[in-house]
Amino acid sequence: PNYISVSKLANLLNCRIETLMKDLRKLGFSNTTHNYILSKEYVELILQEYNYNLPASSLTLTSANAYDELKSPIDPKLLKKRPPIVTIMGHVDHGKTTIIDYLRKSSVVAQEHGGITQHIGAFKITTPITKKNITFLDTPGHAAFLKMRERGANITDIIVLVISIEDSIMPQTLEAIKHIKKSGNELVVAITKIDMISRKQDREKALDKVMNDLINNDISIEKIGGDVQVVPISAKTGENMDLLEESIVLLSDMMDLRSENSPRTTVEGWVIESKVKKTVGNVATVLIKKGTLRNGTILLSGDTYCKVRSMTDEFGKQASKAEPSQVVEILGWKSLVNAGDEVLQAKTEAIAKKLIAKRAALLEVEKEATFVDKLNEKTAFEL
Ligand code: GDP
Ligand code: MG
Repeated sequence: PNYISVSKLANLLNCRIETLMKDLRKLGFSNTTHNYILSKEYVELILQEYNYNLPASSLTLTSANAYDELKSPIDPKLLKKRPPIVTIMGHVDHGKTTIIDYLRKSSVVAQEHGGITQHIGAFKITTPITKKNITFLDTPGHAAFLKMRERGANITDIIVLVISIEDSIMPQTLEAIKHIKKSGNELVVAITKIDMISRKQDREKALDKVMNDLINNDISIEKIGGDVQVVPISAKTGENMDLLEESIVLLSDMMDLRSENSPRTTVEGWVIESKVKKTVGNVATVLIKKGTLRNGTILLSGDTYCKVRSMTDEFGKQASKAEPSQVVEILGWKSLVNAGDEVLQAKTEAIAKKLIAKRAALLEVEKEATFVDKLNEKTAFEL
């Protein structure tokens, strides 16, 4: 912001307005009032002249980076392997939802719970052969993902591109391909609905057609010596679904996905979904990016915070901890958080409250700055 009122500055500096006005008078500002507007240069002068408990550099703070002090650079020595995070994309009706439903229900963990899961925006499966975990985000078209992408956060590791054997590449498939190339995400192609073509030769012919269409769209599939795996599946009969899961595991092993995770790593994550639940209050589904989340941890997001009261997985089962790539529903938020917002750990509740107040003050300043910018400078200034 380039302009700020005396009262807002006092608020930001965490000092009494009277004290600030007295200092201003000493600097030669006569007739200052609480709504007197100061330019950035004057604010810098005041900060230089007097020891307010805010470094001048804080003035370059914006509400968008108000919580940056809670983030720490990654320590390569503390990196540990983590499961892949996968989203499914493709043309409408090509079978995305059917695949997600199949994976969710066939998962070993789901079967232990009678196949009943709650929609929390993501779910975890354990692969049948290699017993590895995969996290699927089941709402890829969700506004939260667009918001995260806008902020430069690409939380997905692998995209499964779904193409119906009957239709091959369609307009939304092309859009997905464009997105995959731009985002740099790794790719596995699933050719779906193979059960629809029972004659072997016809099926082979149709598969070849899809593969050629992929090649024509510069997808470097294994058939031509590339590294993109193509798996023909049926989410209806379950044919080759295990192969699809293992293809994802194979790819993620090659990607060597890691996150910092040690007792001293502070937790960072993203809100996937949030809602108010009648009996328990505000809940948020959070994807853990780094660190291990435990009950009692203080988390900050948007304009609110949380002392983690409990965590549950998609089966409604209590979790004692949540590690990188895991998704849990968290109870204990003071108010509702926004999907797509970042989640950061604060050491104490006091720190969380202080930072939230600071961000709120910055938001006010930004609002005021755009307002003042619109005014004629002459009327805004009495200097
Ligand atoms: P979405 O729009 O991509 O989520 O597609 P859906 O999963 O809703 O599937 C669209 C239609 O195709 C539904 O009627 C599904 O039952 C059907 N479908 C999806 N996958 C398969 C499959 O592997 N085989 C067959 N025969 N039908 C499928
Ligand atoms: Mg669908």
